[in-house]
Amino acid sequence: MAGRIVLITGGSRGIGAAAARRFAAGGDRVVVNYCRSREKAEALAEEIGGWAVQADVSDSAQVRNMVDNVLDKFCQLDILICNAGIAQQKLFGDLTDEDWRRMFAVNVDGMFYTIRAALPHFIHRKAGKILTLSSMWGQVGGSCEVAYSAAKAAVIGLTKALAKEVGPSGITVNCVSPGVIDTEMNGNLGPEDLAALAEETPLERIGRPEDVAEALWYLASDAANFITGQVLSPNGGLII
Ligand code: NDP
Repeated sequence: MAGRIVLITGGSRGIGAAAARRFAAGGDRVVVNYCRSREKAEALAEEIGGWAVQADVSDSAQVRNMVDNVLDKFCQLDILICNAGIAQQKLFGDLTDEDWRRMFAVNVDGMFYTIRAALPHFIHRKAGKILTLSSMWGQVGGSCEVAYSAAKAAVIGLTKALAKEVGPSGITVNCVSPGVIDTEMNGNLGPEDLAALAEETPLERIGRPEDVAEALWYLASDAANFITGQVLSPNGGLII
């Protein structure tokens, strides 16, 4: 299983960076996509013997260029992890057109562009594993996170429908839908908020990026070859 080529969008920080380390530790070559965090991405790529590549996933041309460059360099792509994402907390009535468009541009359009660019390669090889990142809010809805919840629900719809479409081509598509994970995305939460969330969680703690990385690792493994169109939620039992 080792030696696969793995492309992780938004691999420069947080969950994506933990996944990059997990897959590299398992023997895979990891391409770390980043948008703004060049230094972090390059340092990580050096640490894990991977490759850092810049692209804003909300830009279709940049994404196509990135995927073409990966295929030119490695002549192969085995696993695609669509992890890049943004969040925003705002009252629904305060959301602007731009807020709404940006949320979908990064979280949904970015996923569409990335998968669309890589899919012909997977179909040609009749193999490939696609992993998408949703959120528990995409499953149950989060107050003051309507745009984020709607975008992450779209990710689940994309995952399920695509799994049906490309299953006959030997490709699996699965979704990882984390609960509250300790990354910069939750930087707005203070220690008291985090403690309250931990208390609400049956497993009595906030998630770590490594918890999500392990779920991704499992779904990308041969052990998950008969699993497709599913949503796996590392959330400590916060939503069940
Ligand atoms: P972070 O904010 O820690 O990291 C976000 C990552 O996404 C960064 O690597 C960032 O790259 C990248 N990114 C953002 N915008 C773009 C873009 N336009 N193009 C390419 N890359 C981009 O987030 P997390 O690690 O916490 O989240 C990762 C995923 O997990 C997201 O999809 C998020 O919605 C989801 N998730 C997170 C949860 C949490 O509690 N943390 C819970 C549920 C889901 P750069 O810094 O280089 O710009």
